[in-house]
Parts: sequence; structure tokens; C-alpha cells
Amino acid sequence: MQKGNIGVTTENIFPIIKKFLYSDHEIFLRELISNAVDATQKLKTLSSVGEFKGELGDTVVRVSVNKENNTITISDHGIGMTEEEIDKYINQIAFSGATDFMEKYQNNANAIIGHFGLGFYSAFMVADKVELITKSYKEGSEAVKWTCNGNPEFEIEKADKTDRGTDIILHVSEDCREFVDDNKIKGLLTKYCSFLPVQIAFGKKTEWKDGKSVETDEDNIINDVEPLWTKKPSELKDEDYKNFYAKLYPMQDEPLFWIHLNVDFPFHLTGVLYFPKIKSNIEISRNKIQLYCNQVFVTDSVEGIVPDFLTLLHGVIDSPDIPLNVSRSYLQSDSNVKKISTYITKKVADRLQSIFNNDRKQFEEKWNDLKIFINYGMLTDEEFYKKSTKFALLKDTDNKYFTFEEYQTLIKDNQTDKDGTLVYLYANDVNAQYTYIEAAKAKGYNVLLMDGQLDVPTLQMLEQKFEKSRFTRVDSDIIDNIIKKDDTTADVDSKLQDVISTVFKTQLPVIEKTNFDVQVKALGESSEQPIVITQSEYMRRMKDVAALQPGMAFYGEMPDMYSIIVNSDHKLVKRIIEAEKAECGNAVDPVIDEISKKNDELSSLREKYDENKDKIEAGDKEIDELRKKKESIIKEFADKQSLVKQLIDIALLQNGMLKGQSLSQFIKRTIDMI
Ligand code: ADP
Repeated sequence: MQKGNIGVTTENIFPIIKKFLYSDHEIFLRELISNAVDATQKLKTLSSVGEFKGELGDTVVRVSVNKENNTITISDHGIGMTEEEIDKYINQIAFSGATDFMEKYQNNANAIIGHFGLGFYSAFMVADKVELITKSYKEGSEAVKWTCNGNPEFEIEKADKTDRGTDIILHVSEDCREFVDDNKIKGLLTKYCSFLPVQIAFGKKTEWKDGKSVETDEDNIINDVEPLWTKKPSELKDEDYKNFYAKLYPMQDEPLFWIHLNVDFPFHLTGVLYFPKIKSNIEISRNKIQLYCNQVFVTDSVEGIVPDFLTLLHGVIDSPDIPLNVSRSYLQSDSNVKKISTYITKKVADRLQSIFNNDRKQFEEKWNDLKIFINYGMLTDEEFYKKSTKFALLKDTDNKYFTFEEYQTLIKDNQTDKDGTLVYLYANDVNAQYTYIEAAKAKGYNVLLMDGQLDVPTLQMLEQKFEKSRFTRVDSDIIDNIIKKDDTTADVDSKLQDVISTVFKTQLPVIEKTNFDVQVKALGESSEQPIVITQSEYMRRMKDVAALQPGMAFYGEMPDMYSIIVNSDHKLVKRIIEAEKAECGNAVDPVIDEISKKNDELSSLREKYDENKDKIEAGDKEIDELRKKKESIIKEFADKQSLVKQLIDIALLQNGMLKGQSLSQFIKRTIDMI
């Protein structure tokens, strides 16, 4: 028997392994099985080049759990090791600058393991004693057993193993007994080993016999040694891609499209990416791409490796060229990773472009599901934006689809305003904004449907990108103001404006978190609506954007501001104007004249504010009193006008803002009128 010390320059690596890798310690299984797979593949290679002349025989890697002894065993029939090789590969661990490195990467077990070649020692994350019994494939070699109790001392002795390969027996420590469990191990095998290139067996297959399940002699193989992404695209059918997707994500809807990735230069990368159906809530769909390194699962968090918007995709990326022994922040500056990221972005854009070119109908049908992904890409990745301008679509309220260029051509002549700005009209709710959409269509305008989660930020971005263009929602103003063709607006007499707006203001219902501002405009006698309610594009967008960004709650808390635009040309409004004139014109007109006289006086006094300070203050007070007087006369009149209330309620109703008590009063009033 030989005794010795493991060549570690730092005190003792075992506590470090345990302490720093604690959160990730399940990866011991991946590491040990990877070694077993490597040893098996090495033997297969030696056999294929004629260096190993014996029978390959059984090459299955077997994993087993023994509850009585609290052990987990991993056995392979690979190349095995001689005593010298154990000394060289297991006993000598280059281990300089360990403490520094550990501190820097304490949250990244992959980095630590990769850096030190510590794969084998990850066994000590769960075991306090490890036995390694191995026999080399080399002719005449003797079996040896290496034992280590979780301190730098090890023992090596002869063993009586007869067959080639390595058994690793982990005596699981007391605090890690959760791993001595078939289901636990099965779960880990599924997670890390599902696609390893050498067969992995966990237990035996079972079958039903006489009403109970019994073990057969057949190994229960848990992996697919030739997963889809390792095959040639030309050998695969659509069904194969769909089946593989269903295997990876059993609970998901069928994917929309997929891309088979395959590069050899300047880096190695294979994989299949799927476009999932993403309806809303882009957060929940993340962390679905699985990253593999030579068919060994590494992680499902690929941030930093693929551009952010691509993390919405599903599928598998397998590359030995992604450095795992570095921190995430370093990853982004790694030149290979940059190339990989650029490559994937380009592939994704090319694929979308080719579907668009070859089958536009299919592309349009899937647009609703693809949109959020493409919008996100356009918003966050300039390169992707440039490519996507040729296939990204705009959908109008009649469900017709247009590319950016097609749409520009469609609206250019009719929807350019007097300043030469091209106005894109949009709605986000065809039902709620029906009358506004109809008003726009009556002018021969086209209205886009922008009802997606990322539509507001997207249209904001497009406004920046497109030349002299503006997006405006159809209900943000009356249509002639949204696309102003000339400067002629018939101004309503200011006294009339004052009276009418006061009439309506005094009758507005109080709605929580909602402010109204009343304007009087001459919209023509042909206009069907006496009142139009609009909401400023700017204010609404602020709130919409705020809703997406947690840090901007301030805007979200602000009341909604609406304009109530009263059409002084409408016959019902005219009726109110006449009634007001007849009933209280004599009382109100002198007050209004008085106010304007006082205002004129005050403005000349204001020229020398300091001298006239007292007079101005007194004047202001007087005007205030006069206004109150005016308002109270008008209110008394308006209170009796059920037509005013009726017109306001109809406008509110049209915008879905008439609710509760106001709605029930409206219904009662309407029935009374009938
Ligand atoms: P790495 O695999 O990164 O080289 P490990 O610590 O996992 O680091 O393993 C060190 C070496 O020990 C391997 O390179 C291999 O030569 C040898 N080894 C480990 N496990 C086995 C095994 N099951 N069969 C044969 N050799 C092995």
C-alpha cells in the first residue's frame, strides 16, 4: 500500500470546494459522468485508430444508488487509469492563487471547476469519502484502488477488479443525504445528462407482470446519444423538430418556426432554436434556451451569451467555445462570445426574412405570435432592427398587413400634413375607438392596429427612425387636427366659447383620477357628433410607457387628462346655445363684458406691477367674484338642461367611461325622454 499527499499548494481544497460550491453542488454528478463519458469516448477513438485491439464490448456508463451504504456509484468501461496515471491526473492539482480566484468566482461553480480542472474533486461536494477503482485498457495493467477521506491524504492499493474501466464510489456525507435517493438522481440525470453521447443507464427497465411492476434485465437508458441538433438538417423532417421541442418543453404549444445552427469556423457551434408562441408577459418565457458543451448540459441561463431579445427563444445551443471558466460580465467582452452572438442574431433575422420571402401568407398568420419577439429585437438590437425593416409588419384595423415601405407608399399622399409630416394613425382597441376609426376612414385615411405589449415603445422608436413622421392615436384629437392640411380653422367667438364651455363644465361628472378640459370648436354641421372626447398623445404615452417601467410610477399615478370638444356647429349644441341666450343671456352677457373690461384694465396696470400691486390684487379678486357669479348663473341654467347631461353622457358612454351611478342615471333619463 502506498500513502501520500495530494499535491495542493494551498492548505486544503476540500473545505473550499464544499463552502464555495455549496449552492451548485448537484453538478458533481455531471462532472463525474462527463469523465466517464470522456474515458469511454477515448477508448472508442483508440479502437477506431487501431491502438486498442480488444473488444469494446459493453460501453454503457452505469449510475446506481445504495441506500444501505449511503453510496452513489458511477461505473464506466472506458480507458481506465494505471497507478502512474492516477498520480498524474488525480493527485497533482495545480492550485495556485486559489483563494483570490475563489473569492472572485464564488457564485460560479462552472468557472471554478473549469479553471482548476476540478471535475473529479467535485465529488467531495457531496461525499466525505471517495473510492476510485480502476483498471487501464493497456495490456497487462493491474487494477488499483484509490481512496481519499476528504483531506489531502489518500491511499492507493491493489484491487481485484477484472474488467476494464473505472468505478467511482461516493460515500455521501451526512448533510448531503438527499442525494442518496433514486428520484433525486433521476432528476439530475435528466437535467444534465439527457443528451450525452454515450449511453447512461440508471437501474433496469421495468415491466408489468401479474399486476405489478418488475425489473427486467435490460438497462434503463436515460439519454439520447444522438440528439437532434447533432444531426444533419437534410436528414430531419418537421416532425423531428416538433417532437424534439415537445421533449424539451412538454407543456408548451407547438413552436412557430425553428432554426438549425451549425458552424465550424471561426468557432464551433451547433444547436436548434425555436420561436415559441409568446402571447404576453415576456418575463416568464426567459431561461428556456439550454446551453450545452459537447452534449453536456451546462446552464439554462444564457444571458450574456446571446443578445437579450434572443433569450425569448427556446432550444439548445451547444458550443465548446463558450468560455465557462469566466464570470458573466467578462463573457460579454469575450471575442468568441461576441461572434457567436452576432452569428445567432444574423441567423435569426435571415430565417425570418426567408420565411417572409417564401411564404408571406404563413408569416402574416404567425405575425401576432412573432410580433413581440421582433419588436423586442428591434428595440434592443440595432443590427437586428436594420435587418427586420424588410420583414417587420404593420397591421391595420382591417387586418391587412404591410411592410414599412408598403405602408409608407399607401399613406404618403393622403396622410401628409401641411408641414410635410407623415402621420401614422393608430388605434389600440378597435371596439373602444370605433367612432374615431370611422371618422378617420371617412377621410380616406388608414388606421393601424397597435395593441401589442411593446407597441408604444416600438412606435416611439419608429418615429425616431422614420424621416418626418409621427404616430398619433385616432382618439388623440379630432381627425382634422391630427392631420392638419391647412391653417384655416374657424375660430369660435370667444364669448360663445366661454359660455358654452361653462355650461358643459358645470355638468361634468366627477370620475376618479380623471380630469377634463372643455373646448368649443366649430367642426362643421356635417359632423355627426356633438361632443368628441380626446386624450393627448403625449400624456397617454407617458402613462403607457410608465406602466412598462417600474421606476416611473410617478407618471402612472397621474390622472388621465381628456379633452371634451364641443362642436358649436352641431344642431343640438346650437339648441343649447339658443336656450342659454334666451334664458340667461341678459344676466350673463353684462358679467362677461365686465370681466373683459376689468381684464383690460388690469393688463395695463400690470405693466408697472410694483406701483400697482394693491390695485392688481383687488382687481384679481373682483374678477374672481365676477367669474363665480357668471358660473352660478350659467350653472342654474345648465342644471335644468337634461340635453347637456345627455350629450356628455353619450360621449362618455362612447368611450367606455360612463359607469355605475352615472350610467344608471343616464339610462333613467333616457327612458324618461322616450
Ligand atoms: P478534467 O476532466 O477537466 O481533466 P478531472 O479532475 O475531472 O479534470 O479529471 C482529471 C483527469 O482524470 C482526467 O483528465 C482523466 O485523465 C482522469 N479521469 C477522471 N475520471 C476518469 C475516468 N472515469 N476514467 C478514466 N480517466 C479518468
